[in-house]
Amino acid sequence: ETPLDSDGAWRRFSPEMDTRWQETRALEAALRRAAAEGEFELHFQPQVALPGARLTGFEALIRWRHPERGLLTPVIFLPVAERLGLMRRIGAWVLREACRAAATWPAELRVAVNISPCQFEDGMLPATVAAALEASGLPPGRLELEVTETVLLASADSALGQLQALRERGVGIAMDDFGTGHSSLTQLRVFPFDRLKIDRSFVKDLPCGSDAMAIVRAVTGLGRSLGMAVTAEGVETPAQLSALLNEGCDAAQGYLFGRPVPEAQVGTAIEALSAGAAA
Ligand code: C2E
Ligand code: MG
Ligand code: MG
Ligand code: MG
Repeated sequence: ETPLDSDGAWRRFSPEMDTRWQETRALEAALRRAAAEGEFELHFQPQVALPGARLTGFEALIRWRHPERGLLTPVIFLPVAERLGLMRRIGAWVLREACRAAATWPAELRVAVNISPCQFEDGMLPATVAAALEASGLPPGRLELEVTETVLLASADSALGQLQALRERGVGIAMDDFGTGHSSLTQLRVFPFDRLKIDRSFVKDLPCGSDAMAIVRAVTGLGRSLGMAVTAEGVETPAQLSALLNEGCDAAQGYLFGRPVPEAQVGTAIEALSAGAAA
């Protein structure tokens, strides 16, 4: 990815690339420091069951509290962390923190944790998850892992075995960003996911976009016939919600129900949703 790592790269080198390269180097150094010094934190976004918008749990979403640049979103730094080989360590921290936090919530609430494809590489994910569950005392049924289609494409055999082991232990497995990858339907035959999360890009165009509507209808139907729950991501408006209700979608997540909040505000989010604020 750097301008220096392929043949002939020097010839294509420009001042603009130099700046970008320096920025990447600086980000790398800062990321190593962040991982060592605990600058990461988790925010939690409500997930609700439909039709009543009953709170079922929260998705844990990582943030980097950068000393100078403030709160950074994962799209900026996770790809770099993955490339640097820091993702397994960060991912293990996310699992421990998410389980620790969830163990303090009311017992009917679950936590969803995103897992990067890198975390399957060494075959240790089931052990890492088991350690996080044991340390926190969280029952496995209150944890759901969110993986993307790339996981099964990249390291099919090993990832599949690890997902199966986790599932046997009672941990839920969801396919995240469903519909954006390349072999969605094949993947569904390969592994029996507990849940499909319809990508936000489809929900965004509801209720007017007829393509988006057709996709949402197809995915909810697919989930129903395969016995998988279907969650719509990125629900922002009542009009989107009513379109999803019409299709019999099982669950939803999005700004309409609540934004991701720091752990200290989870209690407030629980109260707000119990009061039926969004329903
Ligand atoms: P994701 O797992 O699909 O998470 C949903 C993303 O959509 C989150 O972005 C969330 O803040 C955002 N979102 C939720 N509702 C709405 C809405 O109504 N409107 C809009 N516009 N956005 C909404 P975030 O937190 O920036 O995370 C981005 C991605 O980074 C996540 O996508 C996930 O793939 C990855 N990620 C986040 N935390 C972790 C982590 O701890 N580990 C790993 N491996 N990946 C993570
Ligand atoms: Mg997710
Ligand atoms: Mg998603
Ligand atoms: Mg997404």
